[in-house]
Amino acid sequence: MVATIFSETESEVRSYCRAFPAVFSQAKGAILRDVDGKRYLDFFAGAGSLNYGHNDEDMVEAAVAYMRGDGILNGLDLNTEAKAEFIETFRDLILRPRGLDYKLQFTGPTGANAVEAALKLARKATQRPDVACFSGGYHGMSLGALSVTANAVKRASLVVQVPGVVRLPFEGAIQGDVDSQLGVLRDMLCRPGFGIDAPAAFVLECVQGEGGLNCASAKWLQGVAALAKQLGALLIVDEIQTGCGRTGRFFSFEHAGIEPDIVCLSKSLSGAGLPFSLNLIKPEIDIWKPGEHNGTFRGNNLAMVMATAALKKYWSTPDFALEVESKGEELAETLRRATAAAAGDVDVIGRGLMLGLRFRQPEHARAAARRLFDDGLLIEVCGPRNEVLKLMPVLTMERRTLLSAAQRIADCALELLGLAVETTAA
Ligand code: PLP
Repeated sequence: MVATIFSETESEVRSYCRAFPAVFSQAKGAILRDVDGKRYLDFFAGAGSLNYGHNDEDMVEAAVAYMRGDGILNGLDLNTEAKAEFIETFRDLILRPRGLDYKLQFTGPTGANAVEAALKLARKATQRPDVACFSGGYHGMSLGALSVTANAVKRASLVVQVPGVVRLPFEGAIQGDVDSQLGVLRDMLCRPGFGIDAPAAFVLECVQGEGGLNCASAKWLQGVAALAKQLGALLIVDEIQTGCGRTGRFFSFEHAGIEPDIVCLSKSLSGAGLPFSLNLIKPEIDIWKPGEHNGTFRGNNLAMVMATAALKKYWSTPDFALEVESKGEELAETLRRATAAAAGDVDVIGRGLMLGLRFRQPEHARAAARRLFDDGLLIEVCGPRNEVLKLMPVLTMERRTLLSAAQRIADCALELLGLAVETTAA
């Protein structure tokens, strides 16, 4: 296969294919293959859209049976059997066991469209123009979603300044303990001298996926939730990357015991990588008029069928989440132990199976990702200076594979730092 077809014909906007310059043909579970038959272990998981791995047999089976039975494929927002089954399953397996009461809004299929809908609804519900967002936050590439995104490179193509945005420091972006950091937020928003009006909403990720795997503590999240309440603002939690089990709970906000007003879900929601997004909205703020956030592709029924299969397979019991949590702890511990010689140059960060090696010198993260790719392991970087090597393995990866890959990743980091690789007992 001639790989130049892409560089000669496809737009310069291509990005992931530059980090992973192979031509891929097949994937199963945690392994992708390229056209030359080379295998790659997946520590990227489709940027979080393939938490359950590639081509899960039960999900594929459900999809094939549905298509063979002439099921509706694009249902817009028509009532369909497939949608009813998805809603019932989501309500029974995800919402009710967590005591959550939300209405479901099916948005356009991208995460960015879910964020757009959330921002619109918050402004409409409060009749306030501004949305507060945080340093390090990433919410998608459409105008509104990008306006609440922090990364300057990503925002460069906006050119215009989108009004109605207030930028605040995420936890850890300023010095001080959690109480003093929350104090700064309270001062900025509540003291008249600062000149910031009460916003319509606060939008945040509990673990910042693109922003460098910064994790908000339960205390900080509870503080922001309380501040939002005090100001009559909504709390929007973007679970697009953190959701569907990535942090060891279905929702990352469960760790903090908070209840957002709006929750954005996408990526792994469809189970096997089909485009599908959803906002959960508190019933009292569901003030949409019919058709006020329309979109042709709000009814990907094939995605709903696969999503239902995923929920039934992985969320009927607490076992899957517990397994992710314990795998995450073991992975982090393995990384910490294996990189102990590089303390100060490399930090292990993150939560659940959303972990990172943060390098003091950013170029080491990119170099590690490149070496590991050559060695058959797909892994990306993140953070404002691309300084974090981001471990996003498919959640279903076998524990043994996961841990031996962690050792490979740590060894690669040590080699790059010029530190001798210690051989560890198996
Ligand atoms: N929000 C978060 C936290 C994300 O990680 C992403 C994508 O990476 C988005 C929103 C945007 O989703 P999409 O790329 O599907 O528009």
